[in-house]
Amino acid sequence: MPKKKEPALGADYSSKMKSRYAEKVKTSAKKYSKAHRRENRVVVNMGEEAQQKSLKELGCQGHCLCGAVSFNIFGDLRQVVNCHCGQCLHTHGHYGAYSSVEKNKFKFVNDAGLKWFRSSNEARRGFCQECGASLFWERLGGSTISIAAGMLDLGQEVKTIGHIYCSDKPAYYEIADDLPQFPQSSKGKIDGSI
Ligand SMILES: [Zn+2]
Repeated sequence: MPKKKEPALGADYSSKMKSRYAEKVKTSAKKYSKAHRRENRVVVNMGEEAQQKSLKELGCQGHCLCGAVSFNIFGDLRQVVNCHCGQCLHTHGHYGAYSSVEKNKFKFVNDAGLKWFRSSNEARRGFCQECGASLFWERLGGSTISIAAGMLDLGQEVKTIGHIYCSDKPAYYEIADDLPQFPQSSKGKIDGSI
C-alpha cells in the first residue's frame, strides 16, 4: 500500500469520515457511477435526518481522539469503576476507568477506525486503529459494553464508585480515595457486569 500523506495533528477528519461512510452503505462492488453517487447521497441524508431526530433523546456521546470511532448512548450509564488489572495497565498505559451501558442503548455513529482485539477467552477490547485510543471492553456474549470514561462527552452525572483487581496494582501509584476496593472482580457488588 502506498504511504498516504498523513493529515496534520488536529486536522478535520470529517470529509474522510464521510467518504468512509459512503463506502460502507454502497450495496455492491459495481463501478462507482453518478447513479451510485445519488443513491449514496440519499442514504447519507436520511441518516443525518434520523440522527438529528434521535439526538434529542441522547443520553451521551463519545469518540476517540481522531473521530474515526464515535458513538451515541441512549440510556443511563453505569457509574465509573477503576480497573487495575494488568491488561488495563498495558492497553491504557495506566489503570482503566470504565463506565458501561446495555448494548441495545449503544449505537455507533462511526466505526471506520474500530478494531477489536481478543484479549482473553472471555473478552475483547476495542481500539481505534487510526489514533490508538483504547475505547471498549466487552465480555463475549454479554449484554453490556464497557466504555473507557475519558471517551465520553458527559451530559449526565457519572462518578467513580470503586476499584477492582487491586491485587494487580503496581507500586508506582497509590489509590488515594476511600472508595471500596476489591482484590479481583467485585463479583457484581459495585459494577454489575464485570
Ligand atoms: Zn481514533
